[in-house]
Amino acid sequence: MATREKVLELGGWQTMLVNEAFSIHKAYLRLKADHGRVPWRRVIKNNKASPRNIFILWLAAHQRLATADRVLKWNVQCNPMCRLCNSENESIEHLFFDCHYTNTVWCHTLRAINIHRRGLGFSQEIQEVYRKAHSNTRRARIYVMLFTEVVYLLWIQRNKKVFNNMLQHPERVCKDIIFRVAARCKEEDRMLTDREIITWERLTERIQGQRIPIIVKCIFTFLDESSDSSESSSEMGDANE
Ligand SMILES: [Zn+2]
Repeated sequence: MATREKVLELGGWQTMLVNEAFSIHKAYLRLKADHGRVPWRRVIKNNKASPRNIFILWLAAHQRLATADRVLKWNVQCNPMCRLCNSENESIEHLFFDCHYTNTVWCHTLRAINIHRRGLGFSQEIQEVYRKAHSNTRRARIYVMLFTEVVYLLWIQRNKKVFNNMLQHPERVCKDIIFRVAARCKEEDRMLTDREIITWERLTERIQGQRIPIIVKCIFTFLDESSDSSESSSEMGDANE
């Protein structure tokens, strides 16, 4: 009975027919209310970062991460200070990117795509990401991915500092961000060689006779460092013996 009433409310079965046959597509369109498009739609849709990281970005964009200022509003006692810098109260705006530590990470990350500027306030940065998500250039796609990974990894760094009192060096976090983007982005975005983005070409280096984009070189650096650290730890083990 409820279904029949709903159909009548939507204009009857006649509005859901195509060539006198019921069309589930038309029914769906009738059922779907005409909601306005939200600005973050393309950031979710046109983003090759992992769904988990996109979800954290979505939470940040909606001021839903459990930062100290929000936790205190729930009447839960906690340290209001930002644990990354210990100089300001923690909030989304401070964390992204008023904080000296997070601003350094974002600033270093932007340099990988030849953007030389300091991090702006979160509301300005998120507007920039919405704008980039509407563009279909390779650089814009990488920008959106980089921003997603930055927000995710900085949130992870913040949690590690709060709960384990551990914090990585900004440069290390930046390399991790670039590695994640290079590992997940489209092949064509990783191997930028055409003249569409000249700045990328300038960021290439000649390694073993081949021009390799710096973002790929970062993967090599990352992997080299990982193997170096495992080698050095085994060396330390040998020395202890
Ligand atoms: Zn801070």
